[in-house]
Amino acid sequence: METNNLEKMSEIEQMIKKTQEFKLVSREFQKHDTIVKINGVEIGGKSIIVIAGPCSVENEKQVLETAKSVKKSGAKLLRGGAFKPRTSVYSFQGLGEDGLKLLLKAKEETELPIVTEVMSSDKVKLVAKYADLLQIGARNMQNYPLLQEVGKIGKPVLLKRGFNSTVKELLLSAEYIMEQGNSQVILCERGIRTFETMTRNTLDLSAVPLLKQLSHLPVLVDPSHATGRKELIMPMTRAAVAAGADALMIEVHPNPERALSDGKQSLRPNEFDQIMKSIKPIAKIIGRDL
Ligand code: PEP
Ligand code: MN
Repeated sequence: METNNLEKMSEIEQMIKKTQEFKLVSREFQKHDTIVKINGVEIGGKSIIVIAGPCSVENEKQVLETAKSVKKSGAKLLRGGAFKPRTSVYSFQGLGEDGLKLLLKAKEETELPIVTEVMSSDKVKLVAKYADLLQIGARNMQNYPLLQEVGKIGKPVLLKRGFNSTVKELLLSAEYIMEQGNSQVILCERGIRTFETMTRNTLDLSAVPLLKQLSHLPVLVDPSHATGRKELIMPMTRAAVAAGADALMIEVHPNPERALSDGKQSLRPNEFDQIMKSIKPIAKIIGRDL
């Protein structure tokens, strides 16, 4: 009787395996955690990595000031958008290559590797010249030619979950990158669209342990875009650490009121510093460090 049940169980498991359309990203394919290496920074290991910086690169002073302060607080990578995917065509669209140059300058001064978004296939080579980690934004998670293009480039990729995409669709998109030979992929939960309107998105924290179970790839949480509200960033960051996130990405701006994008969710440098301090004991309790 018991053996029968066991046989049935394994039959079901086999069936589930067959219907899974992702392979390279799956835990079955690779049991051990992937560690993504970005210029000496490892994401997916014991240390929780925090990435911080402005939503958009606006000018030299803004980006250098932010870079220096987030580094002091313990951030290991600098973020900043140069090519911005804005909902309105009349909103600030980013500084383009000039923005990438400013990021590079900040990297030279602080030694923080940089992550920035690449929005289209024809810009992959250009952005890869400057970036240490290439970001695929939520709006582009299912831009398959773009995924294949970053799959061909020898640089790590941060793949953000689309706000209308399922966990399975996120994994299927990561598969597009890996299938091209690039195994350095980080999955990002940045909130999904629900009926709730008090927050910008709904942070799907259950996606963190779920992704860790289904895949060997590291998981990053972006509480800034997930909530859209600065007062929610600290509690959600703490919760993300407790849920097992390997990395976090937080928007910081020296003067959020004057930010050209996402000011409402951007933290001042001192607020970011408080968050860094507040997650240390949580990381310690779960056997990790910062
Ligand atoms: C960003 O991180 O700058 C961004 C635009 O985020 P998302 O693609 O998640 O909206
Ligand atoms: Mn933003």
